[in-house]
Amino acid sequence: KQGKVKVLLLENINLDAANFLKNAGYEVDHVSKAYSEEELLQKLPNYQAIGIRSKTKITKKVIDANPQLLVIGCFCIGTNQVDLDSAAKKGIAVFNSPFSNSRSVAELVISEIIALSRQLTDRSGELKQGIWNKVSKGCWEIRGKTLGIVGYGHIGAQLSVLAEAFGMSVIYYDVIPIMPLGTARQVDTLEDLLSKSDFVTLHVPEIPDTIGMMGALEFSQMKNGAYFINNARGKVVDLDALADALESKHLAGAAIDVFPREPGSNGPGFDGSLGSFIPRLRQLNNLILTPHIGGSTEEAQRAIGSEVATALVRYLNYGTTLGSVNFPEVDLRAITAQDERHIRLCFVHRNEPGVLKVVNNILSDHNIEKQFSDSKGDIAYLMADISGVGHEEVADIYTQIKRTQANILTRLLY
Ligand code: NAD
Repeated sequence: KQGKVKVLLLENINLDAANFLKNAGYEVDHVSKAYSEEELLQKLPNYQAIGIRSKTKITKKVIDANPQLLVIGCFCIGTNQVDLDSAAKKGIAVFNSPFSNSRSVAELVISEIIALSRQLTDRSGELKQGIWNKVSKGCWEIRGKTLGIVGYGHIGAQLSVLAEAFGMSVIYYDVIPIMPLGTARQVDTLEDLLSKSDFVTLHVPEIPDTIGMMGALEFSQMKNGAYFINNARGKVVDLDALADALESKHLAGAAIDVFPREPGSNGPGFDGSLGSFIPRLRQLNNLILTPHIGGSTEEAQRAIGSEVATALVRYLNYGTTLGSVNFPEVDLRAITAQDERHIRLCFVHRNEPGVLKVVNNILSDHNIEKQFSDSKGDIAYLMADISGVGHEEVADIYTQIKRTQANILTRLLY
């Protein structure tokens, strides 16, 4: 049985998350700032789990100095502040929260669709300068218009439902066939979607296939007077080509929340040095620019807190790696039998031939109720539920498995 797990939460992680971990029986230290590498080297050795956001870097040096560390929770979307590979090789699972802000992004897109079709930000900007400019020309209701969603995943699908509630007709393009929600309809090609939509919104990941997927050709395939929205990732769109399409009035407006390069912190200085398109975009009418705020809401922060805290507890208490970014995803149903002689083996090992044979030999005197194993790159993870194990045998099984040649981390939960 594990002693009281100590968790270090940095960067002012949501208090609900801290309370959730305390309620799970862990000892939690809640710190509001990020730690430097030096501070981590000094303080982390007291903890089995750490929660960070984007500012704390978990380097190989920190990982190597903390063999007691079992799990890292990134209470955010990105995970490149952690050396994921080094963590995996030391048997440290890393979790994040990729989907907690889907609803926030979908709602922002709805607001942008209406704001663009009513030229809201232009009118507001004018009136702030004392200009009364009441216009209806070129302003539209969104009811009855066609929304084209590129990427029908977590965000795209949420948005589809919201848009239909406003009376829009929804089509979507995705690389895999996906069951439509409501009366939405999947189309076969991006070109088909672009040529039919009054509004085009991107919700694809940034991967080699999607980088630059919207360029001059694709903008020319859009309807004259249509609107374009990108809340996905900056590199997916050629912003110079977008500026051309807006300057020529081929497109009637656009909303951009993400950029090919983004500053690391708030403040002035978001200018041409980040891309030649910025000065051009600044001059354009009916263009909404926002600083990557698609998922920035209080609700999303809370959802991130509970999603990552839940993942940490499930991993520490039950060994489940569902949703881990650097481990193979392995899960077994919770043990329901109140069998005192029941143990769960969680075995992280190097992905080499013959390992399971050796482990099952060690367990061969006992009843393996269920087991599941999977690999990811150089590491593999086995979970096995074993019954009929006497208390006096637990330490022996643990020692034997820990001594196997491919062992990275052995835990027995009981
Ligand atoms: P998701 O993984 O649930 O869905 C992505 C969808 O895109 C999948 O259905 C996938 O099959 C599809 N896809 C992949 N390649 C494609 C291609 N070439 N053409 C068409 N479809 C393709 O992702 P999600 O949670 O919906 O997020 C979508 C994007 O939004 C991600 O890039 C994410 O980083 C971004 N995002 C931005 C913010 C923000 O603050 N602006 C917040 C959250 C997420």
